[in-house]
Amino acid sequence: MKSFELYDATSVQEAVALLSKFGPTSKVVAGGSDLVTGIMKDWVRGKGMPYPEKLIDITTIPEMVGIKVANNALTVGAATTLSSIVDSADIKKTWPILSQSAESVASPLIRNFATLGGNINQRPRCWFFRGENFACYKKGGDFCFAVTGDNRYHAIIGGELCYIVHPSDTATALLALNAKATIAGPSGQREVPFDTYFTGPREDVLRENLLKHDELLVNVTVPQPAANTRMAFFKLKDRQVYDFALCSVAAVFTEENGVWKDGRVVLGGVSPVPYRAKVVEEALAGKNIKQAAKDAAGRIRTVARPMSLNGYKVDIAVGLIERVLTSALV
Ligand SMILES: Cc1cc2nc3c(=O)[nH]c(=O)nc-3n(C[C@H](O)[C@H](O)[C@H](O)COP(=O)(O)OP(=O)(O)OC[C@H]3O[C@@H](n4cnc5c(N)ncnc54)[C@H](O)[C@@H]3O)c2cc1C
Ligand code: SF4
Repeated sequence: MKSFELYDATSVQEAVALLSKFGPTSKVVAGGSDLVTGIMKDWVRGKGMPYPEKLIDITTIPEMVGIKVANNALTVGAATTLSSIVDSADIKKTWPILSQSAESVASPLIRNFATLGGNINQRPRCWFFRGENFACYKKGGDFCFAVTGDNRYHAIIGGELCYIVHPSDTATALLALNAKATIAGPSGQREVPFDTYFTGPREDVLRENLLKHDELLVNVTVPQPAANTRMAFFKLKDRQVYDFALCSVAAVFTEENGVWKDGRVVLGGVSPVPYRAKVVEEALAGKNIKQAAKDAAGRIRTVARPMSLNGYKVDIAVGLIERVLTSALV
């Protein structure tokens, strides 16, 4: 790893100004658990991702750290640690799946310094992307090594050109909770629903979200759940110690007498973006959830396009969706 210069920003405006001034060889750093210890290995380079020579620390910006409940919404600063989210009594009580998803990330040690913004914006874990000697599409090359190589952990839905799975567990829960992102850039701040925050490989294979180089995520806002809202989250992983999701499911829905009124079912670990399973939601509309759960979960097979070694993830997704829907009712 080469050396880099570190700048402690004290305001969002200062961070944006530094990113604009230094250009593409500068990057935001929060906990550094992905950027410094993973991505800054010399070989994870390519078109659109030059070596970051200047890092702008955002954990020194007071307005980006903290958890606030006001005006029927939760706001979490992007530089808030995952441990703070896990420990928040407000989040545990009203938005439990955010708490559970944060708690499912990595280890307690990592959660003590890894942040929400870093978790949402971390780069993919594809072993070819992170490995030496693989100049794949995502690094500006002209091949996806997962197509002919070991693709057991890759996408089963929405993979095209590149078959990464989005690695963030909190993003899965936040999309199900209908969260919004506040983004800051040179022209000020704007709010974007999580529905449009993440971008797939067809839009731009070199990145995973809509942030431009000189923009950053300031905070995430989650609305207060409506009356009669049920929610559940479950993540299946290969190892009992810290590990990324083989598949995770977050469901947030309203019901009346056990009948589905409205809601979201979101899958993690299966697609280049956190995946909203509309086929499942449509199969539940107006139905008794307990009775319809198995059939609705099975609908995920109609959109799944597994690769040579990951067909098993389709079966896992079907089982997890049913489990999450029924456990949310308990
Ligand atoms: C051993 C290990 C196990 C892990 N297991 C899991 C897991 O099970 N589930 C999971 O979801 N993750 C897992 N992770 C990933 C981990 O969650 C992320 O590394 C961590 O959350 C990133 O947070 P950070 O603050 O350290 O980010 P950093 O490393 O500082 O940043 C990560 C990326 O996000 C960008 N970034 C950071 N903050 C912002 C912002 N506010 N606006 C715009 N861009 C920003 C940075 O530029 C960088 O590209 C694991 C990581 C490790 C090392
Ligand atoms: S899945 Fe994406 S990141 Fe992985 S080898 Fe293929 S193009 Fe590269």
